[in-house]
Amino acid sequence: MYKAPQRPPPLPQVVLVEGSERLGGWIRSVRGPGGAVFELGPRGIRPAGALGARTLLMVSELGLDSEVLPVRGDHPAAQNRFLYVDGALHALPSGISGLLRPSPPFSRPLFWAGLRDLTTPQGKDTDETVHSFAERRLGPEVASLAMDSLCRGVFAGNSRELSVRSCFPSLFQAEQTHRSILLGLLLGAGRTSWPDSALIRQARAERWSQWSLRGGLEMLPQALNTHLTSREVTVLRGQPVCGLSLQAGRWKVSLGDSCLEADHVISALPASVLSKLLPAEAAPLARVLSTITAVSVAVVNLQYQGARLPVQGFGHLVPSSEDPGILGIVYDSVAFPEQDGSPPGLRVTVMLGGSWLQTLEARGCVLSQELFQQRAQEAAATQLGLKEPPSHCLVHLHRNCIPQYTLGHWKKLESATHFLATGRLPLTLAGASYEGVAVNDCIESGRKAAARVLGSERDS
Ligand SMILES: Cc1cc2nc3c(=O)[nH]c(=O)nc-3n(C[C@H](O)[C@H](O)[C@H](O)COP(=O)(O)OP(=O)(O)OC[C@H]3O[C@@H](n4cnc5c(N)ncnc54)[C@H](O)[C@@H]3O)c2cc1C
Repeated sequence: MYKAPQRPPPLPQVVLVEGSERLGGWIRSVRGPGGAVFELGPRGIRPAGALGARTLLMVSELGLDSEVLPVRGDHPAAQNRFLYVDGALHALPSGISGLLRPSPPFSRPLFWAGLRDLTTPQGKDTDETVHSFAERRLGPEVASLAMDSLCRGVFAGNSRELSVRSCFPSLFQAEQTHRSILLGLLLGAGRTSWPDSALIRQARAERWSQWSLRGGLEMLPQALNTHLTSREVTVLRGQPVCGLSLQAGRWKVSLGDSCLEADHVISALPASVLSKLLPAEAAPLARVLSTITAVSVAVVNLQYQGARLPVQGFGHLVPSSEDPGILGIVYDSVAFPEQDGSPPGLRVTVMLGGSWLQTLEARGCVLSQELFQQRAQEAAATQLGLKEPPSHCLVHLHRNCIPQYTLGHWKKLESATHFLATGRLPLTLAGASYEGVAVNDCIESGRKAAARVLGSERDS
């Protein structure tokens, strides 16, 4: 008897709805004079770990291999990071010998912080602020200089409010499983499955610390758009979702003048935005999501002709005790000189935020471009000796751009997950508001959400 070959199930019809006219969200690259590339948002993606490898695999699938600009392990931008403390730049120590030597601004070699970690008993709390965790395990100086700066560099946030469990899960898990950060990081969390590709092998062999794309990171969402539209995905731009309602178990997605119907919604909106769109039956979820707030960052891209940096490295961070407004300065030209334009000009990016910006926002002050430009140029002059006026300057205030995983964030996630599981709401959450703000984390959250909806969730 003839048996017809089994056809794969048809792919669901997918519609991507974007509120603005441009895809990419905070990923935005603009061209300056002579073709120089200026990143207004993220500027480097880490290749490390399973997540880093999956993003590189996607880069290859999108045909972007030849556009990748790697920062190899032996490059100064991979090896040197600085703290600006007491009016001077200090190189952060690297390697075992670096831990044994005195390393200002720390009063003692960091070896002592390591010893403290090895001899401190395991904490008992289900969550702790980053500051309290670092102070307990590594000492007050590491907490108030290094971890304070790291929280500002990654989250533009306050280490005394952010959760170690949610912001630095590998540190939290290291203590939980091995009683010590050092032991945990050395012994590892066990192997997760990684994809394999020529690009991933190259990144591992050359010990890349990060990578970008020749025309800027915005090439990634642009290539994704081309790929998706060639696969019958409908991409709607300039159509902000203004409401979600449920009718007989199906979503009605309101887009101003028109609306869509959907069996399932994957929301990659910021949690607080989604909270305002949900229908009354999802009120408990909306309440939880509304508590996941975000902070603003002002990004000032500066270019200087004929200028030199006093040091070579990725950039420097500034602890809140030194300057509550300047989070740090990235030396873009060191990591990616290919993006300097012609004739090449030195590019740096000053990030402003922290309590200084929060106070200005709370007071309703006028946040003018001039204010940020002046603060940024002053910082570049004082901290890097770039005293001549820049040849090119871009100023952008990104409002509510980085979600804050404050103490107890994990409970919010648990409560949201529980509501979605028990309420059987056909909704899946993705994006930076939940489990990691880095580009890799956001891509992974999207991949997992799609796999869950298609019923093909797996680790690889
Ligand atoms: C200044 C800055 C520097 C950073 N540097 C790095 C870095 O170097 N490396 C790194 O890995 N990460 C970095 N990050 C973090 C990372 O870039 C972000 O966390 C990530 O890009 C967020 O992606 P997302 O898709 O979750 O959210 P978003 O980028 O916020 O995207 C959300 C999208 O939803 C759209 N939207 C909003 N409301 C609606 C609506 N009602 N209807 C329809 N659409 C809507 C928005 O227009 C936007 O396109 C940086 C972030 C910032 C702000």
